[in-house]
Amino acid sequence: MALFDPKAKEISGYQRSIDERTSSIRKYYDEIGKLYYDQYKDMNVDNTKDINTRCEAITRLSNEIEDYKLKILFVKGLKKCPNCGTENSLEYGFCFKCGSKFSEDSAQEPKSDFEKAEEQLEEVAEAAEAAEAVEAAVEEKAEEAAAEAEKKDEE
Ligand SMILES: [Zn+2]
Repeated sequence: MALFDPKAKEISGYQRSIDERTSSIRKYYDEIGKLYYDQYKDMNVDNTKDINTRCEAITRLSNEIEDYKLKILFVKGLKKCPNCGTENSLEYGFCFKCGSKFSEDSAQEPKSDFEKAEEQLEEVAEAAEAAEAVEAAVEEKAEEAAAEAEKKDEE
């Protein structure tokens, strides 16, 4: 039954995230309208900063919605042609409509900017850990050498 389909469950989760963002965007549009009106009405009021913050939030939310849409497509076994926007099967190497070539990683799960940023952070942390290990090894060697030299001095 569709209700127990894990894919359907995943899709409805993404859909819920999209709906939440859509209603946040609507709320921001309302607020921007009010802020702009207050500024229009009273010359001494400057709401530019508050309006800009909301515009930026709308852009961020819109990008996140696009990410979720791509994830839904992926669950359905589809991907979007970056050239014409046509939905293609994941395994296609070329768009069946416009013939554009898909990138090598086009069949992989799409990642949101947030996930990409998290991955980068992980890589940085791993590199830092590796650097620390090297430093510790170098220090150990230096200590060994110093101990060795001391021994020789005593002899
Ligand atoms: Zn295309």
